[in-house]
Amino acid sequence: MLSIVVTPIGNLGDITVRAIETLKNADVVYCEDTRHSAILFSRYGITTPVRVYEKFGEARAAETIVEELKNGRNVALVSDAGTPLISDPGAVLVNALIREGLEYTVVGSGCAAISALVLSGADTSAFCFVGFLPEKGAARKKIAERFACLEATLVFYVAPHDLAETVTYLAEAFGRRKAVLVREISKLHEECVRFVLPDLPPDTVVKGEMVLVVEGAPPRGEELCSLSAEDHVAHYVGTGMTEKDAMKAAARDRGVSKSEIYAQIKGAKR
Ligand code: SAM
Repeated sequence: MLSIVVTPIGNLGDITVRAIETLKNADVVYCEDTRHSAILFSRYGITTPVRVYEKFGEARAAETIVEELKNGRNVALVSDAGTPLISDPGAVLVNALIREGLEYTVVGSGCAAISALVLSGADTSAFCFVGFLPEKGAARKKIAERFACLEATLVFYVAPHDLAETVTYLAEAFGRRKAVLVREISKLHEECVRFVLPDLPPDTVVKGEMVLVVEGAPPRGEELCSLSAEDHVAHYVGTGMTEKDAMKAAARDRGVSKSEIYAQIKGAKR
């Protein structure tokens, strides 16, 4: 399977034991910058072969990794620091695995909300942690008012006894939106249940610890066009599109050619 491994954001001592074991036991580790990861690897005696996985070129690397996973290899993904997919590459790969029905997990995170976001395949370019909904009544109603128009992925913590009511409430408040119930992260029965609010599949196991990730309000074209070309493309990549499709979508929104988008991004990088 693919293991998305969280590495320290600063102090190398912050890595988890399971993260080190996962990196040691993988057949190959994909990283943004092999020289950067070499520092961590040398500290912990990790000798696994490394390959480059970077944001531009993600689609091609994702295709290669899909093939490797289909051939039964264990692959790990790290970013230079912290959690892959959070302002770092990985979204295209996770969405490719979801489409192909291949297994993946996240290793080493200390926060259920962040792990759930990574596992969900939802847009991680902008997200909002809501946590547990208030019990009932006016306070719960205010949540709808505050977040219904927010164009950012929403992350809820949910107790099993409140799941059905939460899903019904969110559908009333936000309408039919894509959602992922992420259960039992890093435990034996870890799973993601994808559905559209409020249609939670009837066979869903309503047990254990769970996070509900809900897509944000649909973006309005003119707001996307006020972003830089690079951020516009990044928005679509964050929703799981390939880089090529994201450039096409941004070009369509802006009424320009794909090569113009490419030129603008290259120009901004100089
Ligand atoms: N401080 C914790 C964190 O960083 O995620 C959250 C504590 S909160 C009191 C407990 C809630 O977090 C659970 O009810 C569940 O919604 C979520 N949670 C904690 N561990 C989880 C796991 N392994 N899988 C899914 N959700 C989890």
